[in-house]
Amino acid sequence: MIKVTNLSKHFGDNVVLRQIDLNIKEGETTVIIGPSGTGKSTLLRCLNFLEQPTSATITIDDLVVDASTATKKQITALRKKTAFVFQNYALFANKTALENITEGLIIVRGKSAEVAKQEALTILKSIGLTDKQDSYPSALSGGQQQRIGIARAMAAQSKVILFDEPTSALDPEWVGEVLTLMRRLAKQKQTMLIVTHEMQFAKEIADRVIFMDQGQIVEQGSADMIFNNPQDPRTRTFLQRVN
Ligand code: ATP
Ligand code: MG
Repeated sequence: MIKVTNLSKHFGDNVVLRQIDLNIKEGETTVIIGPSGTGKSTLLRCLNFLEQPTSATITIDDLVVDASTATKKQITALRKKTAFVFQNYALFANKTALENITEGLIIVRGKSAEVAKQEALTILKSIGLTDKQDSYPSALSGGQQQRIGIARAMAAQSKVILFDEPTSALDPEWVGEVLTLMRRLAKQKQTMLIVTHEMQFAKEIADRVIFMDQGQIVEQGSADMIFNNPQDPRTRTFLQRVN
């Protein structure tokens, strides 16, 4: 169980997140939707301190991190429990697909090069990219690069994988293979928190949907409830606009 309480983020005078409380159940896929500029990316980034929250208490299992007193050691521990998949893949251009996966295992988790390689190869095989292990990102399609980005997160065996619009930088032809991989992770009960504007995908994959507007969670519930019977007028307006 992941518990976030009183998460706020200010950029100068700009209050981007306002006292957000959030619980994520283990094994569930939670999807965050909402208008542009509403703080969705900032929320994800605050969860693993890519962005320092102005205030927050983040609890994952026995780890409790309070933003006002967080130590480097706690932040490192938090990052081990939260893997991030970026919109633009964020792969190392000068490393092969395999090395992009093993890097974190070796540097962050202290695994030997041989163990890291075996683990990475197992994952590459499971996602059908064994033949790309020695390819550099520039030689991979967008879809393949993003699948390597997801493979890297899978290898980390973290508690939750955070996805920030994982398909929005992709040419339409590559979206499908990335969504297929994410569906598979959901079936395997990998805990995931996904920001997406793919409403059909959200409907299909989400155990829970969160609608955010102007730095706050407006409402949350099952996909059926949020998409078919939204309670708040802001949710209705948003859904009318995107559908
Ligand atoms: P989108 O759907 O377009 O990706 P979003 O919901 O992810 O939007 P955020 O990127 O979280 O929105 O941005 C929320 C607000 O925070 C915006 O007003 C943005 O300008 C501001 N913001 C984000 N990052 C920074 C930063 N590093 N410095 C200052 N302001 C920022
Ligand atoms: Mg965003």
